[in-house]
Amino acid sequence: MNKQYSKETICVQSGWNPKNGEPRVLPIYQSTTFKYETSEQMAKLFDLEENGYFYTRLQNPTNDAVAAKITELEGGVAGMLTSSGQAASFYAIFNICGAGDHFVSASTIYGGTYNLFAVTMKKLGIEVTFVNQDAGEEEIAKAFRPNTKALFAEIIANPGLSVLDIEKFAGVAHSHGVPLIVDNTFPTPINCRPFEWGADIVIHSTTKYMDGHATAVGGAIIDSGNFDWERYPDKFLGLTTPDESYHGLTYTKSFGKGAYITKATAQLMRDLGAIQSPQNAFLLNVGLETLHLRVQRHCENAQKMAEYLQDDERVAWINYSGLKSDKYHALAQKYLPDGSCGVLTFGLKGGRDFAIRFMDNLQLVAIVTHVADARSCVLHPASHTHRQLSEEQLLSAGVQPDLIRFSVGIENVNDLIADVKQALERAE
Ligand code: PLP
Repeated sequence: MNKQYSKETICVQSGWNPKNGEPRVLPIYQSTTFKYETSEQMAKLFDLEENGYFYTRLQNPTNDAVAAKITELEGGVAGMLTSSGQAASFYAIFNICGAGDHFVSASTIYGGTYNLFAVTMKKLGIEVTFVNQDAGEEEIAKAFRPNTKALFAEIIANPGLSVLDIEKFAGVAHSHGVPLIVDNTFPTPINCRPFEWGADIVIHSTTKYMDGHATAVGGAIIDSGNFDWERYPDKFLGLTTPDESYHGLTYTKSFGKGAYITKATAQLMRDLGAIQSPQNAFLLNVGLETLHLRVQRHCENAQKMAEYLQDDERVAWINYSGLKSDKYHALAQKYLPDGSCGVLTFGLKGGRDFAIRFMDNLQLVAIVTHVADARSCVLHPASHTHRQLSEEQLLSAGVQPDLIRFSVGIENVNDLIADVKQALERAE
């Protein structure tokens, strides 16, 4: 968009700006290929000398329009869509880390990301050190090594629900000459814009609130353009020295603030191919058009549900940063003043069997391996999403064995509370 509109307007209208007579709605460019008049034109595209589309594995106009909308929402300079949130996390790190490198990550992250970092990246020769994100700066700094290339964390951790002290993390990352990469899936840019607090790169599982209707798996990477790669010329060689697979082009020299995303597109998408399908990008865009309305309602409903659960004597504990009693309430007030997200976690006094009876008795709220869509759902991470983790790893990921994760949807909250009430009563 030409001028800086507010986030609600960006959600509805940004990304696709139709010209006279063009479709008002973002079209699905359902084509793998794009036609050119001369072979010279095509050659220039391959050499990255000219901008344009030639093969959807690298770029597609539907995807680019949606990536542009998310980039604008985050206040970044460049962005790309990926086939999933997992692909986004992988690309974000792999774009600047190779065999022999190391990065630091908060331990309270999504189980799939934890496994990607601890197991799969290790097989590629990339090592990770997990840190307690609530530790002091000096303690976190101890994890850094001369070959450390990035610091990673989730703004609101899934399912630990810890709120990240973004300024603290950005300070530690920058004092070690590395970018802070954050996963902003749970707050979305409606509730938090991490670049304003010093984060350098944001990733998303767009599968969650952005799509919002559980229709399309997807991811996104957005660059703030603020990290100065050339200030550390020996560290980020992939960005600051010639890429032989592109005729000796140097990304920082040729693309300036667009270097990181251009490299991720030209190299990683070309070689690994985790592109989002244009169909999914179209669905994601429809979701984004109401993101601002839905996120607000998710937060209102979750707040009311958290207050209800807090007062029920069968509930042993509850995590929701909107509650004054919550450990992360102060951080949430600073970084998430308009609300955090629709996800809360709690444990029941009756133990694991009681929790399972409770979940089985829910009628409106379904047992689903998902969070952050319009329909309310619950999950027991220790038995489901995080079942590959040991008890020790579970605790370090912020997952108590009795934890029930509740993704509060945008139904009428009184209906949801009535469902929870009857399920608790029938579980007894
Ligand atoms: N990041 C967070 C915070 C998540 O919750 C998830 C999935 O649940 C992911 C990343 C991975 O995203 P995807 O399932 O789209 O690959």
